[in-house]
Amino acid sequence: MNLIDSAGGGNRLARNMGDAYDVIVVGAGLAGYCAALEAARLGASVALLDREPQTGGATVLSGGSFAFAGTALQKSLGYDDSPALLFDDLMRVGNHKNDEALVRLYADQQLDAYEWLAALGATFDKVYIASGQSVPRGHSRSPREVLDIVIDHATRAGVQTWLSTRVTRLLRPEPEGTVTGVRIATPEGERDIAARKGVVLATGGFSRNDALLELFAPAQASAQRMGSDGNLGDGLIMAWKLGAAFRDMGYIKGTFGSHVSAGPRDHFLSFGMYAGGIAVNLNAQRFTDESKSYKLIGDACLKQPEARAFQIYDQPVFERQRPGIPSMDFGHYLEAGRIIRADTLDELAGKVGLDPLQLQKTVDDYNAGAACQQDPLFGRTHLCNGFGPLAQITQAPFYAYPCTTVVLATYCGLTVDVCMRVQDVFGATIPGLYAAGGVMGGFHGEAYMTGTANGKATIFGRVAGRDAAARGNAV
Ligand SMILES: Cc1cc2nc3c(=O)[nH]c(=O)nc-3n(C[C@H](O)[C@H](O)[C@H](O)COP(=O)(O)OP(=O)(O)OC[C@H]3O[C@@H](n4cnc5c(N)ncnc54)[C@H](O)[C@@H]3O)c2cc1C
Repeated sequence: MNLIDSAGGGNRLARNMGDAYDVIVVGAGLAGYCAALEAARLGASVALLDREPQTGGATVLSGGSFAFAGTALQKSLGYDDSPALLFDDLMRVGNHKNDEALVRLYADQQLDAYEWLAALGATFDKVYIASGQSVPRGHSRSPREVLDIVIDHATRAGVQTWLSTRVTRLLRPEPEGTVTGVRIATPEGERDIAARKGVVLATGGFSRNDALLELFAPAQASAQRMGSDGNLGDGLIMAWKLGAAFRDMGYIKGTFGSHVSAGPRDHFLSFGMYAGGIAVNLNAQRFTDESKSYKLIGDACLKQPEARAFQIYDQPVFERQRPGIPSMDFGHYLEAGRIIRADTLDELAGKVGLDPLQLQKTVDDYNAGAACQQDPLFGRTHLCNGFGPLAQITQAPFYAYPCTTVVLATYCGLTVDVCMRVQDVFGATIPGLYAAGGVMGGFHGEAYMTGTANGKATIFGRVAGRDAAARGNAV
């Protein structure tokens, strides 16, 4: 078993681990560490367990975008945003299928979370517009850096991290009683650890579990899968056994814009369409309003031949890139050979195997509409979700990005209340059991706004940690 010892503040192996803690957190991603840090700062003894030999989960694979509204950084860049506008956007993007109480909680607490991260040392200096946002509010930074800062504070606050330690069961001695701990599998065998106050599930989504995806999202069969090796849905399954209720399972959608060569741990996402590009299928025809949520474009892409598409754009779009923001760093992808460049549309079509005449016609038709801010085919009116005027695609060189849809997070899961307490199928709280981050459902509803998965891992992880630490002892 690989342990990180709080006393050393580093990665030394811990000795004499006790078999009881106030709070046990399952999952070494952002939600887990935010919960663990808050609980430890309230004086709880905390063990944080992860099945993988390293920390990070899907958090460190992410684009590092956090959706915050009304920050000083936005103001300094001239972006007029507010918690109220964020709330409205979130409800609209979720098509009002999301749990309003959770959305309200996010909107109310996100500025505090932004300041909290800043106080830890996780500041942001980049903001960009992304899917589902009506104002640029994607605060971006390397997710590994953000997580490492939180881990450092958690470790100094006394959180003990156990790696290569898979939680296999939740302990609940009485059928309707309190969750009193977890069973773990280690290379040395199984054993139980008691949690005096609570267990926080922060096990992320299940984008790497084909059986669960087939059960809940059969329409995503031809989509790529992406996520950490531990994103197998263990937390969901363990809570399911205790009668937990689920939210949003029917809304699992892939994300459009993953390079066709991407493997399960590759972050090869690029969103030239939000800078003014169009998306065409293998017949060189557009198939959607490209300003929509990349989730909705992802669904549309799966219905195209071979579930494949190309984002097509010109030099002005290319120049709207944002170096350092992975999904908007077009130059980096060009260098890596993932974006193809040509001097004419005809040559571009030849390079990527599209019908040149049809591609020219598709671009000409789009340009004719864009000249008067119209899109008779799909009703696109802006570059991204109501932001930015349409622009014609006319200036060489031209670019093509071959892509498809990827399930990279599942955005659904356990039903929780505003204290992150897991609810059962009859609406009763399962005492002592919390869920935060990618393992929980209810917050996103039908679709997803970029940056709100990392945001909710931070915000709701903190809520879970605080509430668990404040509970009375169960054992
Ligand atoms: C390619 C990609 C890009 C993304 N980009 C963004 C973005 O820019 N902005 C955004 O907001 N969101 C983004 N997301 C989504 C976001 O990263 C995740 O939703 C978020 O990181 C989830 O954090 P988490 O802490 O809940 O889970 P994770 O970070 O996945 O951590 C869960 C941990 O739990 C562990 N675990 C699982 N089961 C067990 C078990 N039985 N026992 C012990 N440990 C277990 C796992 O090993 C894992 O380490 C992206 C995701 C991907 C994959």
